[in-house]
Amino acid sequence: MAARVLIVDSISANRILLKVKLTGAFAHVEQSASAGEALDLLHAETPDLLVLGGDLVDMSALKLCKLVKEDPAFAHLPILIANTEGTRTDRIEALRAGADDAFDMSVSTDALLARIRSIIRARSSYEELRLREQTSQIPGLAESFAGFDGPAQVLLASWNAAEGLLWSAQLQHEVPYGVRHQPVAQIMQNMSLFAPPDAIVISLRTATPDESLRLLAEVRARAATRQAAVLVVLDAEDDAARINALDLGANDVLIDGFDAEEASLRLAAMIARKRLTDRLRKRVEDGLTAAVTDPLTGLFNRRYAMPHLNKLAQRAHTQRGDFAVMLADLDHFKDVNDRFGHAAGDIVLAEIARRMRRCLSQADLIARMGGEEFMIVVPVEDVAAAEQIAQRLCDVVRSEPVYLRGRDIQIPVTVSIGVALGSDLIKASSDAAPTSHLRVAANDGIASALIDRADQALYGAKAEGRDKVTLSCPAA
Ligand code: GH3
Ligand code: MG
Ligand code: MG
Repeated sequence: MAARVLIVDSISANRILLKVKLTGAFAHVEQSASAGEALDLLHAETPDLLVLGGDLVDMSALKLCKLVKEDPAFAHLPILIANTEGTRTDRIEALRAGADDAFDMSVSTDALLARIRSIIRARSSYEELRLREQTSQIPGLAESFAGFDGPAQVLLASWNAAEGLLWSAQLQHEVPYGVRHQPVAQIMQNMSLFAPPDAIVISLRTATPDESLRLLAEVRARAATRQAAVLVVLDAEDDAARINALDLGANDVLIDGFDAEEASLRLAAMIARKRLTDRLRKRVEDGLTAAVTDPLTGLFNRRYAMPHLNKLAQRAHTQRGDFAVMLADLDHFKDVNDRFGHAAGDIVLAEIARRMRRCLSQADLIARMGGEEFMIVVPVEDVAAAEQIAQRLCDVVRSEPVYLRGRDIQIPVTVSIGVALGSDLIKASSDAAPTSHLRVAANDGIASALIDRADQALYGAKAEGRDKVTLSCPAA
């Protein structure tokens, strides 16, 4: 773990003991003898983990914990409270103060480090997403994410039905979540049928842990449940089971049997983090979508279309079937802007894009390449099929004028389309470049070469009077 940890304790012997436990696992272990000094250090550089000892001269560990957590800058900083008596009350108080966990010094170094690994893992995936979010985000997009999540759903994977019934009754007293329960063995069999819950509580019998650990591994392996928060409940203290569960991907462990109050506190923290991460992930995905989408028409943009065309060209080497590349350019579009204004031109562009999209099948690619020019890529049997599709696009654009409701104007529009066929160029390049390595290199050129050919054909259509389809020479 190349992470930084800050240990705060006023008694130097305690700090040294903690440092011994943590050194080796952390690249940097810093120490502080008071809460005041710790706060200064935190503000200078935020560590990856804060460990608070029980004996602080200027403030109780719980108070310092609360103080740090209240500062939004440290909302995601993991905090452990050390040197407690190790009682249930210590744990509950620490959790209530916003700490991730509390432990006493009799905890084995291995168990402590496993717990810290699970905490750091959750924090790193959050930080990683946050970084990606910052780079993928388009300004102004953030507003669209204020979604309402609805109550969290918790699945209790109990040892048997009686245990599930009992735990769920106890937990429902404490939490506002939807709670369902089913025995571990049954969940293993019908997992794919479940709507993925926000959190899964897995009961683990330390004498026979295998099935529960298998379920945990399965939850982490499946795409649908991978993001769920997992709390494992051990029926008795057992270091090996605890370490196993954490290292297999449990977010947290109840080490000494099911306790509804402690479970609810741990679940609340886990679910809050999970939902935050979900929202962040969605923002990253939406940001990436925005980066390849044309905002006016909702079609893909050139940034997406070019590599996509390259991939199609590569695939065409290995698969049978051909594809057509079409360039469609609106006719005399400058006149539309000149006569009706740029805003009307925008409405026309969006409407024509919608008509052409509806004319194509879902698998076909249509992208706005810039201005009033579109690229369409469709799989076809032969040149006749390509020409037919292009003609259909031409017809649908001409079919009726675009109606501007607000101004009650009709704007007639036509489009010219140039068509090139993938096979014409790909066959030529395979003959010229027999090794696959060379072929891939050649494919990048094929995409642009195909577009060039379609462009030449388009030029021909314009020259012949517009509102028509022209095939590039080899295709014809
Ligand atoms: P041709 O039939 O030869 O294609 O004639 P044209 O007028 O369509 O071609 P030209 O390239 O001269 O003009 C294209 C026009 O498209 C010019 C530009 O103002 C307009 N245009 C490009 N992008 C947009 C846009 O996003 N919105 C609007 N309203 N107009 C645009
Ligand atoms: Mg143009
Ligand atoms: Mg034009």
